Amino acid sequence: MKDMKEKTQLLGMTPEELGAFFKELGQPAFRAKQVFAWLHQGVPFEKMSNLPKALRERLTGECIDNPVRVLEQIESRLDGTMKLLYGLPDGHVIEGVLMRYKYGNTLCLSTQVGCRMGCAFCASTLDGCARSLTPAEMLGQIVCANGVLAGQGEGQKVGNIVLMGSGEPFDNYDNVVKFLRILRMEGGLCIGMRSVSLSTCGLVPNMCRFAEENLPVTLSLSLHAPNDEIRRQTMPVAKVYSIDDVLSACRYYIEKTGRRVIFEYALVHGVNASPEHAQELAHRLRGMQCHVNLIPLNSVPERGLQGVSEREVDAFKKALEQRNISVTRRREMGDDIEGACGQLRRRYIKDMKEEA
Ligand code: SAH
Repeated sequence: MKDMKEKTQLLGMTPEELGAFFKELGQPAFRAKQVFAWLHQGVPFEKMSNLPKALRERLTGECIDNPVRVLEQIESRLDGTMKLLYGLPDGHVIEGVLMRYKYGNTLCLSTQVGCRMGCAFCASTLDGCARSLTPAEMLGQIVCANGVLAGQGEGQKVGNIVLMGSGEPFDNYDNVVKFLRILRMEGGLCIGMRSVSLSTCGLVPNMCRFAEENLPVTLSLSLHAPNDEIRRQTMPVAKVYSIDDVLSACRYYIEKTGRRVIFEYALVHGVNASPEHAQELAHRLRGMQCHVNLIPLNSVPERGLQGVSEREVDAFKKALEQRNISVTRRREMGDDIEGACGQLRRRYIKDMKEEA
């Protein structure tokens, strides 16, 4: 048997790539379609019942079906939200959140092991970025989550995807684009772009490039400030791209896709949360086809940043509404299970170090 490193990774291949692989093995072309379907259903090679036994054995010995496995699952007693901790073949761990709404299941995916963007409020970036995830590792998180749901007797699979876990999707551009193209394919997970949200801290060149990919996902932009001065206090990326540039890239995305952009705005006490800040924000967003999502800050003890009171959230929201900006306050889910990005992974790594 080959070890993990030498094995061929089949999830994450397009049907064409699988076709070439099976041709090399001297197999008929239709194997690609069969195996593509099984891989996305989370079926291990030995159970791919329409393949000859010898082929199943060969694939088991030489290939990987899913590089991701669930290490831990923690369910919130408040709302059924589930935090998932996954292991990767090289020993890295990543995390995700499975949210259960009345209308279906939404999975929050990681796109990198950690993150190198350095936002002051975010736990994912505290240790930097170890590496980017492959398309297989992104698809694999969904296949795992579907397995968890099936294990609980839940009939419904993951229907919506948010790329809002650890990592900056546009810092892993090619893999994310390939992942999205495979995600929507018939015979695979078949999740359409309207069911996907992608959140970025605003890497302008790749935002513009993405607008031309014909992958009309909902674009979320982590704005978190009404002006460059404040944005630079918490987001190092703001030293590279100005808010004006970021908003121009958003307008371009709206123009190309016809979709509105969502602005994420985490309210941080004493930093960006006053009614004057709301007014400044409204002014900047005037006339744009957009929506503002106010996020009460999940406090990250390592960073010493504080969230705001309900009253402050309401006042900020009202100030935007009065200026005709569409705005909602993000529902907090899984508050009892370290729902914020990067927190569970950090605890797990810390525990492992303490045990060692
Ligand atoms: N790198 C991407 C996606 C990952 S984070 C991005 O920057 O958009 C998903 C969202 O959670 C982002 O809007 C991010 O700014 C926000 N976020 C990170 N830490 C947070 C915290 N402690 N409290 C509230 N929101 C946070």
